Amino acid sequence: MAPLEGLRVNSERLWASLMALAKIGATAKGGCNRQALTEEDRRGRDLFVAWARDAGCSVRIDEIGNIFAVRSGDEPHAPAVLMGSHLDTQAMGGRFDGVYGVMAGLEVIRTLNDLGVRTRRSIEVASWTNEEGCRFAPAMLGSGVVAGVYDLAFAYSRKDRAGAELGQELARLGYLGPVPARRRPLHAALEVHIEQGPVLEESNTKIGVVTGIQGAYWLDVTFEGVAAHAGSTPMELRRDPWRVACPLIETAYEIAKAYAPWARATIGDLKISPGSRNTVPERLVVSVDLRHPRGDTLKSMVEQFQSEAARISSANNITARVDEIWHMPPTDFDAHLIELVDGAAQALGLSRRRMVSGAGHDSLHTAQFAPTAMIFVPCAGGLSHNEGESASPEDLAAGADVLLQVAVKALMSERQPGKSRSHSSGRLHHGPGRSQREARSRCFP
Ligand SMILES: [Zn+2]
Repeated sequence: MAPLEGLRVNSERLWASLMALAKIGATAKGGCNRQALTEEDRRGRDLFVAWARDAGCSVRIDEIGNIFAVRSGDEPHAPAVLMGSHLDTQAMGGRFDGVYGVMAGLEVIRTLNDLGVRTRRSIEVASWTNEEGCRFAPAMLGSGVVAGVYDLAFAYSRKDRAGAELGQELARLGYLGPVPARRRPLHAALEVHIEQGPVLEESNTKIGVVTGIQGAYWLDVTFEGVAAHAGSTPMELRRDPWRVACPLIETAYEIAKAYAPWARATIGDLKISPGSRNTVPERLVVSVDLRHPRGDTLKSMVEQFQSEAARISSANNITARVDEIWHMPPTDFDAHLIELVDGAAQALGLSRRRMVSGAGHDSLHTAQFAPTAMIFVPCAGGLSHNEGESASPEDLAAGADVLLQVAVKALMSERQPGKSRSHSSGRLHHGPGRSQREARSRCFP
């Protein structure tokens, strides 16, 4: 172990790999359009597979097109250390979201090769299929199938806007593999990713030690009033659903403020009927997205919102019905791996802070069956899902250095880090026994 202390990746090679992949699907504004299972995605996959083979890895493709580049350890049957993310992008995506996690994993393998380091456990780099969910909903599908959140038939039947089915596209591109897409023992699952938010940059911090992924509730609130003429109906005789909708929307923001700084409330969609400028509406349907990293707090937020909806609607003689559309409990990462990430950043002299991911990642699914942790690095202006997405070669190398250190520690370890993991307890919403209907709604961009 001692000679590996302070070991770093080759940052030029990491950057060159990222830039080579960025050319596949490059957009005019400097971003990337490499949507899942398009020609561009195939070229990106082919390049990754070629590089993995050059690095001495064997390559396994599973039934949902996930790619695993495997560098065998001395004990090939010991659970492996997996690193990875995704190669697909949004339609107007950036050059770093996802691809960084895959290339950093490959860079770890290349660095170990440079030094001739043998490891006890095998090391794998995963590229998960259809993480973004922009061509085929839901997002994080490949990792979700492996975790047992979605079944294979459901995944194959997903259609894009033109009607192309995901299963057929996999076969067409030559990425419908033979390896069963299901859970298997992993010693650790690690994902390094750009933050996709402004916190690290604004606090001038190099490494985000990610402790989990926040939970979310999606609610639809339906306000029923009575349609009426905008001119001839006196104000006091109207049953206008806005009179309840406005204060209730304000309530959502107040709840987020009450649970600051971690709570989030977003009113992202509104349907109004009949939708006429000279008619008092009969019905409004407002979407409410509430998030918090702690399950009990998130539950209180939702309960407060529901009781306020009941109170305001009874006081105003307008019904406000709250329907729960989707719920994702918070994901807690493995406590031992979190400590390893923290310790590695400290040992490398990198500033760090603990944080919860605001966005969904494939790690959300690996955390359901393997000790999992994530490492964040800053991205310029917090911008992501945007062609202008940008990160510095130094910051990207720093994140990969931390990944390397954590992977090496996990690779050499005899101990199963999952002793303290929380993914096996209290996760009643997550098991493979969940209904398909619930599974279908699990798209979490
Ligand atoms: Zn991503």
